[in-house]
Amino acid sequence: MRAVTTREPLYTEQDRAELLALDVYRAGLCPLCGRPREVCTAPEGTYQIDTVWEVCQATRAVAEIQAGTYTDDNYPHRRAHLWGARLTRR
Ligand SMILES: [Zn+2]
Repeated sequence: MRAVTTREPLYTEQDRAELLALDVYRAGLCPLCGRPREVCTAPEGTYQIDTVWEVCQATRAVAEIQAGTYTDDNYPHRRAHLWGARLTRR
């Protein structure tokens, strides 16, 4: 005698449809700016573009530590180092 176990499917048809739609949406985003490609590649003048300049303080802190850590001859495998920043609100 063979036992047959039936389970609820992990994903519903609705889940699958939404995941596919998300995949299509993400595929249409610009890898550079993250906006929909039809927006950021629209002809010049279609949108007013105001630029902003901000500093990612976590990346800045890591870059400063890295600059003080590495010289030309130490840590030859430094490209393999995984740096990160832990942010704790004061
Ligand atoms: Zn873009």
